[in-house]
Amino acid sequence: MHKEKPQCAKCPQVLCDPEIAVEQKPSFEKAPRFCPSKLKQDVIQRALHEYDKENIREFARLASVQEFQCYEHVPGGIRTKIPRIEETIQFAQKNGFSKLGLAFCIGLSGEARMVTEIFENNGFEVVSVCCKVGATPKESIGIKKEEKISGPEWHESMCNPIAQAEILNSEKVDFVVLMGLCVGHDTLFIKYCKMPITVLAVKDRVTGHNPLAAVYLSHSYYERLRGKATV
Ligand code: SF4
Repeated sequence: MHKEKPQCAKCPQVLCDPEIAVEQKPSFEKAPRFCPSKLKQDVIQRALHEYDKENIREFARLASVQEFQCYEHVPGGIRTKIPRIEETIQFAQKNGFSKLGLAFCIGLSGEARMVTEIFENNGFEVVSVCCKVGATPKESIGIKKEEKISGPEWHESMCNPIAQAEILNSEKVDFVVLMGLCVGHDTLFIKYCKMPITVLAVKDRVTGHNPLAAVYLSHSYYERLRGKATV
């Protein structure tokens, strides 16, 4: 028998966020077959138990309070209020974090300097580590000389997300902010970092670090992303 898999991204109704009064109960009767609110009730219940842990519950509560504070009610309705960097600062303050770790890509060194200044001016201590820390040659992980970006004849330092994570672990920072790590390097960083992590920015070399720009254009200039001919 074909086993349904969760496919929220294809949902026509989004019944999990219904516009109903507080005393009414959400219903999934009309939800699609692939709805995980129906298919995965046991997993959802198990996940909910995690919030019984006091520290997790408080962290989740503060995240939702922060989410609320990113909007304001005005006569015309609801509108957004603060950019993500401010959201990050406010959330860190709410949690009583004082020492922030900034793990950044060398390609965003200028941004790292600006972000550090912003965090410091808001009262945080900042420990920052660049992806190239240690200057270990790429050959040490099996990269061939013809696979080096700057050419075979040059030293090229490998990105070392494990060292970035371990340095921030050793510094016992309260909260880690990721900025611009490559795909895969970020995966390793997240795997090895023991501290709570948030992402301020992800790297996109051609869109000014806005990967959704290419997604928004996937029905026109970036049609090739959908397996269509490029315009
Ligand atoms: S949980 Fe169910 S109702 Fe909500 S988006 Fe997913 S499929 Fe749709």
